[in-house]
Amino acid sequence: MKIVLKNLTKIFPNRNKKAGGDVVAVDNFDFEIPDGKLVGLLGPSGCGKSTTLNLISGLETPTKGQIFFGEEDVTNIPPENRGVGLVFQSYALYPHLTVFKNIQFPLENLKKDQKLTKEEMASRVKKAASLVQIDELMDRKPGELSGGQQQRVAIARALVKTPKVLLLDEPLSNLDARLRLQTREEIKRIQQETKVTTIFVTHDQDEAMSISDLIVVMKDGAVHQIDEPQKVYDHPVNLFVAKFLGTPPINVFEGEIKNNELFIGNDSVFKLKDTPDRKVYVGIRPEGFILSDSGCLKCNLNRLEVMGRDMSVISTNDACINDSGVIRSIINSDANISLGNKEVRFNLKESKVHIFDKETEDCIDIEVLRNE
Ligand code: ADP
Ligand code: MG
Repeated sequence: MKIVLKNLTKIFPNRNKKAGGDVVAVDNFDFEIPDGKLVGLLGPSGCGKSTTLNLISGLETPTKGQIFFGEEDVTNIPPENRGVGLVFQSYALYPHLTVFKNIQFPLENLKKDQKLTKEEMASRVKKAASLVQIDELMDRKPGELSGGQQQRVAIARALVKTPKVLLLDEPLSNLDARLRLQTREEIKRIQQETKVTTIFVTHDQDEAMSISDLIVVMKDGAVHQIDEPQKVYDHPVNLFVAKFLGTPPINVFEGEIKNNELFIGNDSVFKLKDTPDRKVYVGIRPEGFILSDSGCLKCNLNRLEVMGRDMSVISTNDACINDSGVIRSIINSDANISLGNKEVRFNLKESKVHIFDKETEDCIDIEVLRNE
């Protein structure tokens, strides 16, 4: 089932009347979520992810705009009739009911023609439980389960009505790091097995990158970019997107295009083809640096961190405006570098360098003539 959002907008009146100003939680969303895909809604806290999900599920009513499931306009259909399965950060299981009863719960109050017999319910519950691999735990109460197991029960409960759409709002946030990794792979597997159109909300770029077919990057109620994870990483449309994706984060420098050369500080790093002069931000991914004695970008070496396969070179440069205050570059660990050096020089991989207009912070296409 594809989901189409048309000019979808949600404005909350500001509760603090004195402060004034309404909150535009979702600003004119106009995009399509393809059938059978897992789409990640990614953005910092407060950017409108949950509101978007609640609009799609029907828990919130839009201020403006429409929502379609397939060709059907569901904007005015109540949540219980939309055929959505919901999973939240808190598992919200009934503590006094067994796992079996918890999963069965949504099936118990189905109306007339949808009503199921006891056997039909049991078979649906078993199927959902086996999909999330908790067959063994059916007689336990939620209090006797780990966080990861509880979240699986919540997912089974969301799947038991065979929803057209599965909506997951930060479902892994309450799990410890290891379980988070494991459960996100589980969710990917379950989604691929069921092929149910799934929207996965997270503020964690790593999580969104690893799990999603498509990522919607949001900020302040607005969509900034929609694309496959790797494409968003390789071709960020603006500085915000570039900074939001990637660990370690992209390194940002103040720069300038002058006489068809790209400068970082006084260092000319690229010769460009017919590019107007302007002030820019230069973003360089950590893997975009090549150590070279004759490198074009001169930095001051701080320290090295060896991490097995790779080595992190930590350095500084006056033009660098990273939040961390240092440049993090990742170099092959057999590279020859000694801490005796005060200066470290890099050449840059063109595909790992992104240029942004200093005013708009939008990405600028440049054509590099030759690496210096
Ligand atoms: P996210 O899930 O991305 O963290 P939310 O969708 O929860 O963000 O919130 C988006 C914005 O809308 C925030 O500024 C939040 O304070 C505001 N907001 C959310 N729900 C309400 C509400 N019921 N009333 C007023 N403001 C709200
Ligand atoms: Mg939220």
